[in-house]
Amino acid sequence: MTSAQVPQRREIATSLPGPRSLELMARRRAAVPAGVGGTMPVFAERAAGGIVVDVDGNSLIDLGAGIAVLTVGSSADKVVEAVHEQVERFTHTCFQVTPYESYVALAERLNGLVPGNIERRSFFVNSGAEAVENAVKIARASTGRQAVVAFDHAFHGRTLLGMSLTSKAMPYKAGFGPLAPEVYRAPYSYPYRCPVGAPASECGPACAEAAMKMMDKQIGADRIAALVVEPVLGEGGVVVPGEGFLPTLASYCADNGIIFVADEVQAGFGRTGRWFSCEHWGIVPDIVTTAKGLGGGLPIGGVTARADIVDSIHPGGLGSTFGGNPVSCAAALAAIEEVEQHGLLERAAAIGSIFERYLLPLVEDVPAVGDVRVIGAMAAVELVADGQSKLPDPAAASKVLARCHEEGVVLLKAGTFDNVVRILPPLVIGDDLLQEGLEILEKAVRSL
Ligand SMILES: *Cc1c(COP(=O)(O)O)cnc(C)c1O
Repeated sequence: MTSAQVPQRREIATSLPGPRSLELMARRRAAVPAGVGGTMPVFAERAAGGIVVDVDGNSLIDLGAGIAVLTVGSSADKVVEAVHEQVERFTHTCFQVTPYESYVALAERLNGLVPGNIERRSFFVNSGAEAVENAVKIARASTGRQAVVAFDHAFHGRTLLGMSLTSKAMPYKAGFGPLAPEVYRAPYSYPYRCPVGAPASECGPACAEAAMKMMDKQIGADRIAALVVEPVLGEGGVVVPGEGFLPTLASYCADNGIIFVADEVQAGFGRTGRWFSCEHWGIVPDIVTTAKGLGGGLPIGGVTARADIVDSIHPGGLGSTFGGNPVSCAAALAAIEEVEQHGLLERAAAIGSIFERYLLPLVEDVPAVGDVRVIGAMAAVELVADGQSKLPDPAAASKVLARCHEEGVVLLKAGTFDNVVRILPPLVIGDDLLQEGLEILEKAVRSL
């Protein structure tokens, strides 16, 4: 499906969900556990560009991108071609059994894209959680240390170590313990809600100070293998840390032999207008984890590490049966080409300007809008009971989402307090469609 085959306009033919989606929802309830979450009770039939067409013929505007996956869209020409070409040759051999060129080529591309003029190596797994797990394994083995530091509001996946690093109990950890040991939590700079009470402009350095004090006093810097950080929080509510936060932590890590792991699974791969969000602060991480946007819609996770760190791992210590599947590698190489050929980094920045035009005025105009955050094609509207108390208002976020969903706009919720509307369109969405989606969102927010 190319954008030409899927008309790029919103069209609501039935009430949402329509009759066919309702039938499928009934089957889903009987066959799939309720524990598997759901944002909209609408089943997809095809998709391209900024549109998802459902099984009842409704065309929805996609401002969720399958959770920040569809950087290049859900059916980019080069990705579709590369996948076809690869499946006709073979679907799998396992890179550890008989390797294939696309895996190596993708490693070369990532090694070149990750910031810093350092020798790097990459290997591939199946998901973001698995990438983070491997980063921690490498950091522990290469340092001979055990402690790992993660941050408030962090999300790093749903595997045992992933959820242990994740901050939020409900729904990610509740009942699933015991959690993995030797995981410590530090404050994250959240200028709108500075956890150490500093004014927004001082939040970055103040939180870095608090985090370093915690590491020194509660763990001991010489016991810490890795600091795992999202340079921009995704699930945590699209929080952009205050100036100074990340650079201070990066130098603390360098001074103390701690591996700095940038979890770029959500904010990376072009989403914020740079290949990696850590580039906004000139950070050169020791290890970068990728997944979501990496495979152009196909499942793949990547670990890109400094060669001197990862080369300390014994042969056979890293790998996975499906990791770096040839179809996913072909798709990822094509997705990188799409980003380059269509100038999607610049496009992400342009989408950010459109976000600002529609969303920033809401802070002044609507008392329930506590904060608006925009970094490239990643934005958040944080809803509160009132501007004074900043009391999170999750019901308002649910109301806005419900209104948008009814009108055929796919939008996601986020935030530790479930009070953030998160906007993550495919970077290939057209201006008209994006603006129409934002107008619907704006109307829903103004009617609060
Ligand atoms: C989504 C996400 C993960 C987990 O990725 P999965 O592919 O769902 O396992 C890890 N880190 C961040 C920052 C994420 O947004």
